[in-house]
Amino acid sequence: AALGRIEAVEGQVDAFLTVTADEARAAAERVDAKIAAGEELAPLAGIPVAVKDNICTRGVRTTCASRMLENFVPPYDATVTEKLEAQGAVLTGKTNMDEFAMGGSCENSYFKKTKNPWDTSRVPGGSSGGSAAAVASCEVPLALGSDTGGSVRCPASFCGIVGLKPTYGAVSRYGLVAFASSLDQIGPFGRTVDDVALLYGAICGHDPRDATSKNAALGEVRGEVKGLRLGVPKEYFGEGISPEVKAAVYAAVERLKGLGAEVVEISLPSTDYALAAYYIISSAEASSNLARYDGVKYGFSGNREGTLNDLYLSTRSQGFGAEVKRRIMLGTYVLSSGYYDAYYKRAKLLQGVIGQEFADAFEKCDAIVTPVNPTTAFKLGEKCDDPVQMYATDVCTVTVNIAGLPGVSLPCGSDAAGLPIGMQVIGPRFSETRLLSIAKCYE
Ligand code: GLN
Repeated sequence: AALGRIEAVEGQVDAFLTVTADEARAAAERVDAKIAAGEELAPLAGIPVAVKDNICTRGVRTTCASRMLENFVPPYDATVTEKLEAQGAVLTGKTNMDEFAMGGSCENSYFKKTKNPWDTSRVPGGSSGGSAAAVASCEVPLALGSDTGGSVRCPASFCGIVGLKPTYGAVSRYGLVAFASSLDQIGPFGRTVDDVALLYGAICGHDPRDATSKNAALGEVRGEVKGLRLGVPKEYFGEGISPEVKAAVYAAVERLKGLGAEVVEISLPSTDYALAAYYIISSAEASSNLARYDGVKYGFSGNREGTLNDLYLSTRSQGFGAEVKRRIMLGTYVLSSGYYDAYYKRAKLLQGVIGQEFADAFEKCDAIVTPVNPTTAFKLGEKCDDPVQMYATDVCTVTVNIAGLPGVSLPCGSDAAGLPIGMQVIGPRFSETRLLSIAKCYE
């Protein structure tokens, strides 16, 4: 059914870079055989799952939507894909994204632009836009994305589905192609909170192959908000947020109040500086992580006739797109001597301050409610020529990554044109069960 649906709508949505139809059919047949034999089934048995193309899948092309990795076929699985397979899930394909997960609209892919299923003249959000669009258009019930500064939550919000950015360390990053290692987390998409909980429960937990991973587990998601204190930070409802988004999120808070939550106003004063800190830290780490694409070891290789420098230059000039180059340049700049103290060091100081402000806020409340995106999905091409405008769309999501917290994005209404609006619920580290419970109660 999933493959049939992909065939029917993929021409309009363009969510996938690779569809693994034959492998998926074979996997489904194996599940059928188990059912026929009366064998016990694993929790995800036979469920189609799509995986963002920056997560390694053994034997299946993993491109990061980059020319640099156009023909890269990993010889190993990421921990998450290994876990999915062990639980019986069926991989249906690899989804489109912004190149190396750098972007907020899915337009930075080397291969194609994914469309928003609600209005195909609009973006699905990014960078995990392919995964979000695949779930929203019912091509698959579940998908994995990655979130460094909002890349699961933003597309979930633009596409009207549920997305979870787990606590830093809750899900293994082994086999996730690194963008900014101290911020990256893999996260699940689904159309319901239960679906997201099912997928999160399947992928979380300690992994000896990721030194930053922790022994996270999901408890029972009951759908309760009674007695919980919800913080509403005024800094997240400022000038740049559209009136429709504000109204929808405020209305959602009112509804949660009606369901038994206590609402408290809180303040996170350093929010204004979070975007700057995020783009400094993430670009610094990206410039280091992407140094490995040199045309020698694997991936695209440029001019092999000249000197080693000629090889580096041609490989990286031709292999990377404009946004990736911009990040590498920004990153090397903020790390270079003379600028390190002025930019990188100050951004890292600010990271500490933002983390502390969240810790203080969680003395007063159990979870925080904010918008996800400042607006609903924008038109394809609208922000392509203005990187700063594109970066500004991350204003509500980057703080969660900076502080290593979990955040869930869930639908809470629509604008006048019928485009989905999302709300974000943020909690203390490893409060995924609570966050999903609040989301389920709202849903
Ligand atoms: N839009 C943000 C960026 O471009 C976030 C991307 C992400 O979370 N991978 O960096």
